[in-house]
Amino acid sequence: FFRRLRENLSKTREALGAEIQATLFEGDVDEETWERLEEALIMADVGATTTAKVVGQLEQEAESGGLEGGEALSRRLQELLADIARTGQDRIDLRHDPTVILMVGVNGTGKTTTLGKIAWHLRNELGKSVMLGAADTFRAAATEQLQGWAERAGVPIVTGPEGSDPGAVAWDAIVQGRAQGADVVLIDTAGRLHTQDDLMAELSKVRRVIAKQLPDAPHETLLTVDATTGQNGLRQARLFAEAAEVDGIVLTKLDGTAKGGIALAIAGELGIPVKLIGVGEALEDLRPFDADDFAQALLS
Ligand code: GDP
Repeated sequence: FFRRLRENLSKTREALGAEIQATLFEGDVDEETWERLEEALIMADVGATTTAKVVGQLEQEAESGGLEGGEALSRRLQELLADIARTGQDRIDLRHDPTVILMVGVNGTGKTTTLGKIAWHLRNELGKSVMLGAADTFRAAATEQLQGWAERAGVPIVTGPEGSDPGAVAWDAIVQGRAQGADVVLIDTAGRLHTQDDLMAELSKVRRVIAKQLPDAPHETLLTVDATTGQNGLRQARLFAEAAEVDGIVLTKLDGTAKGGIALAIAGELGIPVKLIGVGEALEDLRPFDADDFAQALLS
């Protein structure tokens, strides 16, 4: 699995890892070292704030004599990155009856695919029974696409006509999920609304309807962020975090991007943990996010 992660992150590693190795291992450690390190992290979309924090800390420790040589610097850098990636990390708690998971995210980020992957993973790898709710009633195509994934994952789905009340679909999904003894109810939401206010209003309405059924639900709100969009993904995450209580990020399309550092920017700057990563287009291409493995795969 770790080898797979290294392969998935190969583009980021090529861009970042090689430059960092060159910077820390070749020549004297001086001002230029820190500048090159900063540049490499920013190029990998780690973000200015998080980069400054990490490089500042490393520089301070090196100057106070705690870190001698490229090996020690590189190891310490990996630790600092893992610490940031670990921010707020905890597993998705599936012990509710049922556990309600709300999926939010902008169209095109891989939200529907991720819903299918999560449903498949829950059913086939964890043996859970799942009910899907297609509460993105904004576009008929969204519902149809989700129906396709439900079929492939082998889970039932509740839908509503285009333009119908998303809250009503969420409500029905929970009612039917409870009636059928589902362990998890997974609810999709609209990925495009005209303004931030619309988005906030829509999400809070869906949440309110869910809470009327189950007072402590939704138990988990997951936001899909497309890793290939780099800093734009960070901006989206910030907007959604303001509009909904986001508990975790699913970082999609991490395969084939050199912008994998965005996981660190989101954790470091928004304090929202990355919980799952998407590493391909197939049902099984979803992985739990492990901060240590991630930092190691980025650098070595
Ligand atoms: P939505 O509009 O947010 O629901 O996005 P979709 O689920 O329709 O995905 C948009 C595109 O991204 C599709 O072509 C997916 O196959 C692709 N996609 C989704 N997740 C991943 C991933 O982890 N890796 C790759 N390479 N492609 C992905």
